[in-house]
Amino acid sequence: MQRIGVHTSIAGGLPASVERARALGCSTFQIFSHNPRGWALAPRSREEIAAFRRLTAAFNLKPVVIHTSYLINLASADPVLRRKSMEMVVEELNIADSIGAQYVVLHTGSASGEDPREARKRAATSLAEVAAADGWRAGLLLENTAGERGDITSKIGDIADIVRRVPSGLIAGICLDTCHAFAAGYDIASQEGIAVLADDIRKHIGKRGLKLVHLNDSKGPLSSGLDRHEHIGNGRIGVEGFRRFLGHPFFSGLPLILETPKKKDEDDPRNLQVVRELLREMPSAH
Ligand SMILES: [Zn+2]
Ligand SMILES: [Zn+2]
Repeated sequence: MQRIGVHTSIAGGLPASVERARALGCSTFQIFSHNPRGWALAPRSREEIAAFRRLTAAFNLKPVVIHTSYLINLASADPVLRRKSMEMVVEELNIADSIGAQYVVLHTGSASGEDPREARKRAATSLAEVAAADGWRAGLLLENTAGERGDITSKIGDIADIVRRVPSGLIAGICLDTCHAFAAGYDIASQEGIAVLADDIRKHIGKRGLKLVHLNDSKGPLSSGLDRHEHIGNGRIGVEGFRRFLGHPFFSGLPLILETPKKKDEDDPRNLQVVRELLREMPSAH
């Protein structure tokens, strides 16, 4: 069975996020462990954590994924921000282990006007330092980014450049975001573009390193560098693009988590339905 889910809100406490995933019929899901635009961590009681673990097990939801804070910049030239970012990654891994999450998804950071190679080296140095304390069950997944200004991880080869400098054990692999890939110039709406991306992953990371897909359509055109998610089928990738992508053997069977816009209550159910219908058409029918 291919696992499908969405990013759900933790408003009302961690167990509420599991109930939301369950109500949508998800078999995997993602959360922020705290407000992703702040550094403050919410204290969690033992009861809250136990309820979260009990519900994810009862509903057979896996993988459980934590998306890290947007403030993290492991590549920052500012030593204070870099230190805070490393501490935050450690905290997220600790939380992941406490709640039984398998993966922590990370946007590594940005270069802010500097040489991107230097910035990637700095990000790798930060991650190597985090890795020195490794002992976590949860694995870190580096996510490809959309190619906005200062971006250092929009190409798979760039992510690999960081991964290869970090002692093994900490980084479990990559999370591929389809919107970001498209915005960064991988034309995954076409069969050729899908093949290029598959080749890039095979060459730089290895197929086994691809652990998770963030399935999002893209508001921005190909190579726009815009990180703007759209409902599945309504963006520049389109239903046909997703049919090709999901049907490609390299990308089939992976857990899919949607981070599509949530303006109305029907948005998540509708996006999930579109994806389920596409999967139902696949020859390996689930
Ligand atoms: Zn994403
Ligand atoms: Zn995004």
